[in-house]
Amino acid sequence: MRRVVAIFRRELRLTDNPLLEGAEDVQFIPVFFLDAYNQEEHGDNLRALFFHALRQLRAGIEGLGGKLYVVCSGDQETFFDIAQPDEVRFCEDVEPHSRERDAQLQALLNRKGIRVRVLRDSLLSPLPNVTYPSFTQFYRRHFTQHVQPGSFIPVPQSLQTPLLDVPETPLPQVDTAPARRWYSTEQEVQERWQEFVVRALSRYSTQRNLPAVPGVSHMSPYIRCGLVSLRQMLRDSWGVSEQFVKELAWRDFYSHLLYHHPHTPQTELREDWRGFPWRNDESDFERWTQGKTGVPLVDAGMRQLLQEGWIHNRVRMVVASYLTKHLLIDWRWGERWFYQNLVDADLAMNVGNWQWTAGCGADALPYFRIFNPILQAQKFDPEGHYIRQYVPELYGATSNDLLDISSLHRRFADYPPPLVGLEEGRARFLQVAQRHFGSSSQMPELPLDG
Ligand SMILES: Cc1cc2nc3c(=O)[nH]c(=O)nc-3n(C[C@H](O)[C@H](O)[C@H](O)COP(=O)(O)OP(=O)(O)OC[C@H]3O[C@@H](n4cnc5c(N)ncnc54)[C@H](O)[C@@H]3O)c2cc1C
Repeated sequence: MRRVVAIFRRELRLTDNPLLEGAEDVQFIPVFFLDAYNQEEHGDNLRALFFHALRQLRAGIEGLGGKLYVVCSGDQETFFDIAQPDEVRFCEDVEPHSRERDAQLQALLNRKGIRVRVLRDSLLSPLPNVTYPSFTQFYRRHFTQHVQPGSFIPVPQSLQTPLLDVPETPLPQVDTAPARRWYSTEQEVQERWQEFVVRALSRYSTQRNLPAVPGVSHMSPYIRCGLVSLRQMLRDSWGVSEQFVKELAWRDFYSHLLYHHPHTPQTELREDWRGFPWRNDESDFERWTQGKTGVPLVDAGMRQLLQEGWIHNRVRMVVASYLTKHLLIDWRWGERWFYQNLVDADLAMNVGNWQWTAGCGADALPYFRIFNPILQAQKFDPEGHYIRQYVPELYGATSNDLLDISSLHRRFADYPPPLVGLEEGRARFLQVAQRHFGSSSQMPELPLDG
């Protein structure tokens, strides 16, 4: 019987998992390689949810009669020498560090004459050979040309894993209060998803911007760990909400950008933004991270992040715009804070969205488009329910009170005064930006190739 090693990384589920295709017909050896890089790179909220999911997967595999090996990445070669597989399969990953790792792995397996199969799970469409400069072009010319609801990969009835005398390592124990809110089994994630499909999916396009309404799926942490299948999400939303399908396509869009522009976690995609004179005030940054800027919607969002490891998408845009524009603080600082704290932290999504909001990424907002957090609150949280949920000092504030941030701290004693007046912050940013970009308001075109 053929021996297949399946390397699990971020596809931590049994349902509809390409790594498990045909697994019951072979000697199937699931393995997780624990590496130091990922332990250092990721924040505890994501690590806690991730290892929770990995433990669930290990139990699920055991329930089918198999065994998941957990091995230090340094012992990888020894593992393959002992396992003697005919095939090794894993899923592609667009992150620069992962691509380097996979190139080395591929070289090692080629040297040993072991067949390699690279599968796709965290993207719906194949990676294109070129960069699409705008989401619309990507969606029309690439995504819709390649993506259609497809078949379902069934959970194997049983697994046979040979017992191997390989050096195993224990899984790290990580637990955080925000992550605990998200701990779920695969079955529970399915139920949450189905509940969203029945209750909210058809109204997604009208409700997705309202942070006080349960109008979004909350699936991002589960997508990050692979506790839910993107193909299943596509099948269920196809024909029900094109807007939702488009949101899934944004994932692929940002993934293809990182793939073709691997320098973007460090450097702006748009060359004209490089060397931008950020103000980088550490004390303002600290107050932003703690949700104490004196701007209610920004503070609510940043406190939601501290409590839940997650923020509603509309509010992510508002807090990111406020940091980079009103406070003139480098998007990289915000990106790192999000990355360390989000339970759905994903390099391609985070960098892509931060650059989009700051104005220095693909298809980004022009630099002079600055979100006004008061108007955003008026439009998307008109009653102030979201703000009051996360900023208890403002519990007694009426929706009218929330519109005048200059006097809020006087009426609500525990609430901080604004770091900067909104008009003043906006004008300061525009002045610096105009000096940086010169008089031309025309941004150069993004190069088509990476
Ligand atoms: C500054 C900033 C940073 C972000 N960082 C991350 C991140 O690290 N990880 C992450 O997964 N998302 C990130 N996002 C995108 C988005 O905010 C989240 O994916 C979304 O809020 C997750 O909630 P949901 O699952 O309820 O989304 P839903 O509205 O239910 O959407 C369904 C799915 O579509 C995808 N999606 C939706 N919006 C976007 C988007 N703008 N970009 C890419 N994919 C999207 C997500 O996979 C999401 O789970 C960021 C957005 C901003 C503005």
